[in-house]
Amino acid sequence: MIRKALTIAGSDSGGGAGIEADLKTFSAFGVHGLVAITSVTAQNTQEVRAIYDISPEVVVKQIEAVVEDIGVDAAKTGMLSNSEIIKAVAKTVKKYNFPLVVDPVMIAKSGAPLLREDAMETLITEIIPHATLVTPNRPEAEKLSGFQIKNVDDAKRAAKTIVEELGARAAIVKGGHLGLSEAVDILYVNGEFREYRAPFVEGCTHGTGCSFSAAITANLAKGKSLEEAVETAKKFITMGIYYGARIGHGHCPVNQNA
Ligand code: PLP
Repeated sequence: MIRKALTIAGSDSGGGAGIEADLKTFSAFGVHGLVAITSVTAQNTQEVRAIYDISPEVVVKQIEAVVEDIGVDAAKTGMLSNSEIIKAVAKTVKKYNFPLVVDPVMIAKSGAPLLREDAMETLITEIIPHATLVTPNRPEAEKLSGFQIKNVDDAKRAAKTIVEELGARAAIVKGGHLGLSEAVDILYVNGEFREYRAPFVEGCTHGTGCSFSAAITANLAKGKSLEEAVETAKKFITMGIYYGARIGHGHCPVNQNA
């Protein structure tokens, strides 16, 4: 039977991040993708030109429509944009018991804020406690935990705090922003740490956070354990950064293939 994964996230008109990246990733794993669009962005690989948030009622209706007919084996959240959307999504996902991966999207690599400043607290209190897994990068983990992260030990402290103090079931603090020769991701689940290592590869990186959390979600939808889903997603994203084609003019090393 075909498995289904839902992404509750923003649209990137450039097709590199957001729901577009999520749907392509779901397809790559043979999973049928469902969407609840939270926000429409006018965006390319270099900049976000406009953001138009969808009304919370319509976000909820999208989730309910697909759950009630098609069914959801696992879901993820990406760009949630504002407090009203976060509250509506939290209230809705609470009714269902699918695994929920929360990518705590805050600021795009281009510098554009994808979460309103005043919505940070709502994200922490309303969504994180429902997360099967939270997938922050270094700056996001710093915001969520309140710690500065300079090394793997700091990343461990942050992951543990996101679980034990904010109430997520598990957290993975990604190592791509740590400036080490290896990208070491730290997973904290069931009171234990696990490390996922890959060489730090140069490549096109727009949308990598979205694709990583979508790959985990797709694998959870297929019934894999959290640890297996993360391991598969880590390989997928490392290859994606290395082999991904150059699209547009942003976030790629100059020698990346066209
Ligand atoms: N646009 C949307 C709609 C997103 O959901 C995301 C995800 O984080 C981004 C842009 C950010 O992309 P990046 O920071 O990888 O460039």
